[in-house]
Amino acid sequence: MERISRIVVAGGGQAGGQAVDSLRREGFDGEILLVTAENQPPYQRPPLSKDYLAGRCDRDRVLLRPEAFYAEHSIELLTGARIASIDPGAHRVELETGRTLDYDRLLLATGSRVRRLDGMPGSDLEGVLYLRTLEDSDRIRAAMERAERVVVVGGGYIGLEIASVAVEAGRSVTVVEALPRLLSRVATGELAAFYADLHRARGVDLRLGSSVARVRGEGDGGALRSVELSDGTEILADLVVAGIGIEPVTDLARDAGIDCDNGIAVDSGCRTSAPDVFAAGDCTSHPNAFFGRRVRLESVPNAMEQGRVAAATMLGEDRSYESEPWFWSDQHGVRLQMAGLSEGADQTVTRGEFGGDSFITFHLRDGVLIGADAVNGVREFIFCRRLIAARGRPDPAALADPSVPVKTLL
Ligand code: ADP
Repeated sequence: MERISRIVVAGGGQAGGQAVDSLRREGFDGEILLVTAENQPPYQRPPLSKDYLAGRCDRDRVLLRPEAFYAEHSIELLTGARIASIDPGAHRVELETGRTLDYDRLLLATGSRVRRLDGMPGSDLEGVLYLRTLEDSDRIRAAMERAERVVVVGGGYIGLEIASVAVEAGRSVTVVEALPRLLSRVATGELAAFYADLHRARGVDLRLGSSVARVRGEGDGGALRSVELSDGTEILADLVVAGIGIEPVTDLARDAGIDCDNGIAVDSGCRTSAPDVFAAGDCTSHPNAFFGRRVRLESVPNAMEQGRVAAATMLGEDRSYESEPWFWSDQHGVRLQMAGLSEGADQTVTRGEFGGDSFITFHLRDGVLIGADAVNGVREFIFCRRLIAARGRPDPAALADPSVPVKTLL
């Protein structure tokens, strides 16, 4: 077999961070370079809209691995460095500084970028912020300390988690969501209604089916004053945070002629259409056995799993991505964990009282468990995931019965 001397990883998010670790665990002893545009080693993003934003944990706690890890494992970390182009034919990348790096294997783990309110009048005012990086979270936290009134644009998980932290910090908070309901990308209507009630009960002013027409400052380009909705309503604000979704960063791949399809298109082994170029994480779409189609997942478990799979296949092992989607959200002290899918279900069963302190909604199709949404059901959730992965056909009456441990249905 050919000798692999150098692997370059483009991107230091959770997929890239996991991949360099996995490469060493797989026994690769050649050179590893991790090139990241960020000024930090890889870190976890979920806390940035939760505990880290709330000031409940510090930077060290969110790092994926301790800072010393990279040197200890002979992984060269190039922070604040951007790759400008890749040449798959020559097996070479060029950094923005002009420095070139030859590779035997390249992993694209370029992640996502936030959608912005660009083009909307006032969107360039100083008090309009977005959340993606650690520094973004620091900036929002600092601005939140000074602000009294916060307007969150977007009623997805990011917007709602930020709203939850802001209300807890005593701010007056309005969430403006363009669609008539919250969480339309990933949650059922019932669950979205549960979250709408929860936010309202904690004092969040929800404006559903509303879009922001402009952001106003005091005078010309002055401090933020208000947000104007398209129906003319004016909401006073000294901080606006937009959480209106993300899009995959595919520019490098596209410019190099690598196939993209709602993300960099990879196979189940994280291979792209270019030889020796692999991709993992948010920036990819992959054929998913569970969905039965190609999907792009915006989720940490997906990034970690693809990071592990890519590390193995880069080294020539035959490994396939097989996991079921899952993720979690924390809002107002309530933990939501979701696994599988609710879409396409023909039967729904709830364990516990829907809307109560703790409940799990199960989604079945043709008797097969395809999804579970657990609200404060942390102990049972792992077994829900296993049951979904096993394509289990549990008795619906047993699923609905809190006295039957989910474990016993496996
Ligand atoms: P995330 O998971 O990052 O929170 P989602 O895509 O799930 O992202 O949610 C973003 C939400 O923002 C969606 O519910 C979408 O309808 C909403 N949205 C997008 N653009 C606007 C806008 N201009 N004004 C208000 N809401 C918006």
